[in-house]
Amino acid sequence: MDGNRHARHVCGMTHADPDHPELRPEFQPGPPERPAWPAIAKGLRHRCPACGEGSLYTGYLKLVDTCPACGEDLSHARAEDGPAYLSILVTAKVMGTLMLVVFEAWQPPPLVLAGTFSVGVVAMALYLLPRFKGLMVGVQWAKRMHGF
Ligand SMILES: [Zn+2]
Repeated sequence: MDGNRHARHVCGMTHADPDHPELRPEFQPGPPERPAWPAIAKGLRHRCPACGEGSLYTGYLKLVDTCPACGEDLSHARAEDGPAYLSILVTAKVMGTLMLVVFEAWQPPPLVLAGTFSVGVVAMALYLLPRFKGLMVGVQWAKRMHGF
């Protein structure tokens, strides 16, 4: 029987320090993570997560490849559907609750309620979308995801 067998996990790793150079001579520690909350705050303001000065977007949602102020490479950002998910999540919770409160308080005609809240929901979602995209780019930059 193998004497070390009891010390191994199912995945084959041992209980010993996995970063020990004799166990993993190929191990090269990557650069440390950056502080996430300042990067998130900058992203929420549509600003570069590194310097907080350069704009994140060339249009409404089109990300710049490099920060115009500090030159940070922002082409690694992969926000995908995350900002839309967060926007819908927050907008639905807030506006759904507000619609119930308005109906209970004033009982407006259904067409008035539907019309005003349709406009309000679209406006809120469009307001939140670029901010949540900046938030996600900030998190990805801080955690050095996708090559940042
Ligand atoms: Zn910058």
